[in-house]
Amino acid sequence: MTFSLHGQAVSGGIAIGRAHLVSHAALEVAHYQLRERDVAGELERFDSAVGTAGAELDALRADASVPGAPAELSAFVDVHAMILADPALTDGVRELIRERRCNAEWAMVQQMQLVVDQFDEFEDAYLRERKQDIVQVVERVLKVLQGRQRKLMKRKASATEDDLIVVANDLSPADTLQFKTLRIGGFVTDMGGSTSHTAIVARSLAIPAVVGMQHARPLIQDDDLLIVDGTRGVLIVDPTPNVLAEYRLRKTELQLERAKLKRLVTGRARTLDGEDVALLANIELPQDAERATEVGADGVGLFRTEFLFMNRDELPGEDEQFEAYRSVVKALAGKPVTIRTLDIGADKEARALRNRTGNRAAPNPALGLRAIRFCLAEPQLFLVQLRAILRASHHGRVRLLIPMLAHAQEIEQALSLIELARFQLREARQKFDAIEVGGMIEIPAAALALGPFLRRLDFLSIGTNDLIQYTLAIDRSDDAVAHLYDPVHPAVLRLIAQTIQSAQRVGMPVAVCGEMAGDPKLTRLLVGMGLREFSMHPAQLLEVKQQVMMSDTAQLAVRVGKLLKSDEPDKIGDQLEKL
Ligand code: PEP
Ligand code: MG
Repeated sequence: MTFSLHGQAVSGGIAIGRAHLVSHAALEVAHYQLRERDVAGELERFDSAVGTAGAELDALRADASVPGAPAELSAFVDVHAMILADPALTDGVRELIRERRCNAEWAMVQQMQLVVDQFDEFEDAYLRERKQDIVQVVERVLKVLQGRQRKLMKRKASATEDDLIVVANDLSPADTLQFKTLRIGGFVTDMGGSTSHTAIVARSLAIPAVVGMQHARPLIQDDDLLIVDGTRGVLIVDPTPNVLAEYRLRKTELQLERAKLKRLVTGRARTLDGEDVALLANIELPQDAERATEVGADGVGLFRTEFLFMNRDELPGEDEQFEAYRSVVKALAGKPVTIRTLDIGADKEARALRNRTGNRAAPNPALGLRAIRFCLAEPQLFLVQLRAILRASHHGRVRLLIPMLAHAQEIEQALSLIELARFQLREARQKFDAIEVGGMIEIPAAALALGPFLRRLDFLSIGTNDLIQYTLAIDRSDDAVAHLYDPVHPAVLRLIAQTIQSAQRVGMPVAVCGEMAGDPKLTRLLVGMGLREFSMHPAQLLEVKQQVMMSDTAQLAVRVGKLLKSDEPDKIGDQLEKL
């Protein structure tokens, strides 16, 4: 019987194939009492299982370091190894075995529940989702205790078979590592949100995936025919011949389109009337620089450095940051690299900063001490990063970008600290070169009072993700109001257009680096507003390039001018379609 399920679309594309069910977490375990003289043996059995699980993780770490393995995966393996080594988990289990004289499996599940309950208290969605990592580590140890190690895939797909679609309650990042060597078409999970590790890995592997399906695992059987639409977040089970034919066609079309797009890697993004448009890449980690160069990006338009600060207990020091920035600068070989200073706070948290001013439980974190506000409150920490960025400038073309500016005095304070960092480097006889300093326009106040930005800075970059959030008062990470998060709300469009025009009037470079820049449906709109620099995730770059190459700037300027006069959403929608 055919039916469909909906979840969160986390990685686009279409996969058609047979279901491969991955077994449930073996968390329902037996509970039995030990005799006093068996307790020592049980403790040994537990320690040995922990040792074996650790060895498995070491082996996975070796796999993660092979060329081509997604960079995030070794980080996930590290997180699991850290959890496994954490006495908060293992000491509690040993104590339970000793005191209650119970079997190791049961003690392990009890202790897990204790730790996981503490995670439920966290307000931060990212941290709450990390409890899945603990469950996955416990599951790994349980499987050793129960004598069956997890082998994700029983079989390999043959070259002629349809895609193999993994259906799981949840997948650990370490599990997804196996997708590298097995031909997996896509996956769906019942658990997980859009910031879960599974979602992050799916995007880095570029295979269609839908998470948070709730009921897929119990409703689907091995070998059921499935369609995963990773763009719309839909899973179709046992499709009718018509639906199947339709999706096969769409899949083939998508593949052809992707293959055709590759031909655009080398050419310039030039419009029909001969205007050049710069297309740059957004990156989160230094390793992402490779993907930027593969698609022929004109540089890095946004390096979100806060990701270097996450998933670790210690802050990265000046030398470590310098090496990270330098590696990107080197990889980009002379093309500009825009390094954004730490934008921590709101939905982005770093464990190592938890005890600082910025990470107290803020009543309204998106309006609190985030980004530059946090850095100005922690000048010593900020100076470390500024010195590291300045030092990287000696190895290529570096631009320094400051997030979340709203006030003239913030610009002045940031510039003074950059000057102080230069002074400190001179004192320490460290080399650095001239560097352009830019500001992000992501608060309406900044867009409406641009004067100090235009006078004091070298370039602007419009962060539409936050600009939309703050203009419409819609928390960008809150599902409940997601339907009101509207990039083409007339107020948003006017702020963007105004910022572009004001900057261009005084000859200041201006880019858009929010998600709008990577949406090919909005490329012509932005070109029509006069935008000539876009920065986006590398996977979107060629599609945007294609749109640029089909644009006529003079014609679009007239049409977009008319569109901006309207504040009727329906009219804007119509005009947008006709651009
Ligand atoms: C933005 O706000 O548009 C932006 C690019 O920054 P981030 O998404 O990292 O907040
Ligand atoms: Mg932002």
